[in-house]
Amino acid sequence: MKCDLIVVGGGPGGSMAAKAASEAGLKVVMLEKRQEIGDPVRCAEGVSKRTLNRLVKLEPEWIASEVKGARLYAPDGTSIVMSEDKSGGEVGYVLERKVFDRGLAMLAAQAGATVLVKTRALGLLRKNGAISGVSAMRIGEPLEIEAPLIIGADGVESKVGRWAGIDTALKLQDIESCAQFLVHDASIDEEYTEFFLGNNIAPSGYAWSFPKGEKLANIGLGIQGSRSKPGEAVRLLHKFMKARFPNGRVVEMVVGGDPCSGPIESATTDGVMLVGDAAHQTDPLTGGGILNAMQAGVMAGEVAAKAISAGDMSRRGLVEYETRWREKIGKTIARSFQFKEFFVKLNDNDMNQLLGSLAKEDISKMDLAGMLRVLFRFNPKLLWSLKSLII
Ligand SMILES: Cc1cc2nc3c(=O)[nH]c(=O)nc-3n(C[C@H](O)[C@H](O)[C@H](O)COP(=O)(O)OP(=O)(O)OC[C@H]3O[C@@H](n4cnc5c(N)ncnc54)[C@H](O)[C@@H]3O)c2cc1C
Repeated sequence: MKCDLIVVGGGPGGSMAAKAASEAGLKVVMLEKRQEIGDPVRCAEGVSKRTLNRLVKLEPEWIASEVKGARLYAPDGTSIVMSEDKSGGEVGYVLERKVFDRGLAMLAAQAGATVLVKTRALGLLRKNGAISGVSAMRIGEPLEIEAPLIIGADGVESKVGRWAGIDTALKLQDIESCAQFLVHDASIDEEYTEFFLGNNIAPSGYAWSFPKGEKLANIGLGIQGSRSKPGEAVRLLHKFMKARFPNGRVVEMVVGGDPCSGPIESATTDGVMLVGDAAHQTDPLTGGGILNAMQAGVMAGEVAAKAISAGDMSRRGLVEYETRWREKIGKTIARSFQFKEFFVKLNDNDMNQLLGSLAKEDISKMDLAGMLRVLFRFNPKLLWSLKSLII
């Protein structure tokens, strides 16, 4: 099998890359190890409406519910409400990712990409030292696919980067260890996504409830990897459920890791670009990565087409991808990383104080920058280390 571009991984990043590259005229093969794209879901499925609508024409069945905004709880129970358009990249729609991910893969196929499911990439092929394709296992049969360019969109456990010599190792403190239940409970707030802070709930992380309609919600939590141990996220989630949703009935469960590092040093090397979680492009503060993966996918797909037509698949030939993703999402990731580094050190009193000072103000029309300015006004000492980011 021969093509111009192989995309490894059929998540949002991979499908958008395959779609963009196919639309630009490349012959694309996308490999997905699972037999059903999008399943199982390891995600709370929250995304901002505005950004998603800019990226793709939505199908109604991709959306499980729409929310008005986010409610944030301090450890002492004080809460603030933020409107949907001011709540950042993970609030607006709660997706049905099993359908959404498959829908994006369909768009890639409609644009001309060949989608191979139940096909696991096993390694990179090289000819005279240069990348020449991917070796894979397809439904129990070995398969070699030739292509001069590879996009690694193979998620948080990415191997493509490592095979190509890109340093994708994550420190334990830069991984959130997550557990999530799909829960049915009459007390679920269907109008707001909810975030619960507190070191007893989720050490250096947070718990969430993202409503999916009909009194269902993704209820989960993430804790900093360096403060976790095997089974800890699930244990804490059971404890949280007992305290907050004692009558909740669990109908599904997932566990998974979420990269929460700053921007990766390099997402490209000769013949290879990394996209989405594989390139640590999640927001380190919130853990949200769907939209960043999609945006990076589009950029990588477009740059792939240019590189193939110029006949230059070297790292230099792919530099436009590196420049574009750093400009579009890398700066926000770097900023969020600084906020995360501050946030993980807060004790419960600090969090109560910060949310308490926002609760006294009318923040309904404020964006994040406005809220940060209010926080700084009331808590200059606590927030001194973030001064340059706030003022
Ligand atoms: C518990 C949890 C909650 C989250 N909640 C949110 C949220 O509310 N909002 C948000 O924006 N983000 C959230 N995220 C993060 C989000 O899920 C990811 O950032 C997003 O899925 C990244 O997309 P991707 O395409 O890079 O990778 P993925 O969606 O992980 O896709 C990678 C694909 O590659 C495939 N693959 C891997 N290895 C191979 C191989 N060798 N060969 C072939 N295929 C391979 C995998 O099967 C997978 O389908 C959450 C993450 C977790 C763990």
